[in-house]
Amino acid sequence: MFDGLENGQAMKKVHIKSFGCQMNKLDTALVTASLQKAGFTLSDNVDGSDIVLINTCSVREHAEEKVFSHLGFLRHIKETRPNLIVGIIGCMAQRLGNELLEHEAVDIVCGPNQIPAICELVTEALEKKNKAITVTENIRQASAQNPELEDFESVYDRADKRIPGQAYVRVMRGCDKFCSYCIVPYVRGPEVSRPPEKINEQIKRLAGEGVKQVTLLGQTINSYKYTAGEKAYNLADILAMVSDVDGIEWIKFVTSYPTKKNFDKILQAMANLPKICPYLHLPAQSGSDKILRAMNRKYTSQEYLELLETARDTVPGVATAGDFIVGFPSETQEDFEATVSLVKKARYKNCFVFKYSPRPGTIGDKKLQDNVPQDVKKKRNTELLAVQEKISDELSSQFLGRTVTVLVEGLSKKPHINTETGIDRPQLVGRTAADWIAVFNGPISLAGHFAKVKITQTSPLTLFGELVNEVGR
Ligand code: SF4
Repeated sequence: MFDGLENGQAMKKVHIKSFGCQMNKLDTALVTASLQKAGFTLSDNVDGSDIVLINTCSVREHAEEKVFSHLGFLRHIKETRPNLIVGIIGCMAQRLGNELLEHEAVDIVCGPNQIPAICELVTEALEKKNKAITVTENIRQASAQNPELEDFESVYDRADKRIPGQAYVRVMRGCDKFCSYCIVPYVRGPEVSRPPEKINEQIKRLAGEGVKQVTLLGQTINSYKYTAGEKAYNLADILAMVSDVDGIEWIKFVTSYPTKKNFDKILQAMANLPKICPYLHLPAQSGSDKILRAMNRKYTSQEYLELLETARDTVPGVATAGDFIVGFPSETQEDFEATVSLVKKARYKNCFVFKYSPRPGTIGDKKLQDNVPQDVKKKRNTELLAVQEKISDELSSQFLGRTVTVLVEGLSKKPHINTETGIDRPQLVGRTAADWIAVFNGPISLAGHFAKVKITQTSPLTLFGELVNEVGR
């Protein structure tokens, strides 16, 4: 691992911009911590920085376009500041490799599995002014365990302290599902589960530092499997293991792939272990069996709904979230209506809806024609969100008058209704165990602690209330 900057390089300033999912946020946090440990200081803007790193996402075309647009801006800046170093990390780096390195603004390209090398790459670029690239060759054949990445993950795990009392912990990397629209298996590589003892050590250390909630991360987290001697571990075993860690009060996990495999065991763990939060993120993607087949999703809409029903029977009060793609190739109005019907039956707490965009290198891009017009995609997107909003509104209004426990995250980013203000009682935001967002006024010292909030008003995605008391401080 990199030891640190030479004296001459001390106090170089780095600005990091991050796009994409929670995996990327975690990678950004790890990279940030490693750079700080090596002697770099963080800057929150490009102006005062010597280095700009962009952690990129390739899941949607729009996400890549935003990065290219930012690179255009940086190229302009480099006309007057040629010594500025620009590095691209994350999924776009792995997907585009040398093509990105050829961009005038780019000095460093570093794939997501190569981030332990980031400090060396940046230091070399500062010293030698050379362009450099490190990505994983033949990523689907890459060896299962990656000791450097494992060490990197363990050493810099508590990097993201922006939400006090909480931490993300990756339990597996990569994906083997090959949904026809998705680039992840090609840029994050095969599924690799981290050793249980490493996860356990890491979470014990986090608990020792005051972390109360861990969110376990995996692209398809319920595929977790690890064999040590005679014992084969699945996600339910990991949930039980983490439940035993003193100091950890709440455990969440995302994202689950809809499959019966291990589902009952995971639900039993949720039902029987009080620390496991009743929240299930289970993307359906479509309600049409024809589209699900074209997406290479391995379930029918009926099987999906049965999984949700089992979850609700086993874990009373479980809140669910879904993901959908509208305008997938050959999606007819009838297919879309099947999706609307599924959303109505599923009654999610919330769902994320995306318009299909073909990703180069995927089966969808090679074999399917992107034949749903943009205006139709847009219309379906709006319509599906409206259906979900009504459901979210009905579900959230059931909280009126109830008192919920939240883990307080900090200051609410945007002003909401119920805006009693004042230095001693700013507007705070927290989440319940079932992941409902609650906004209320209280002392900022509550951040990172549990609090009880009586709900007095609701909107589809947010509960508003009054602080009843603080717990566990
Ligand atoms: S399960 Fe499908 S959508 Fe999710 S990361 Fe894997 S390939 Fe992509």
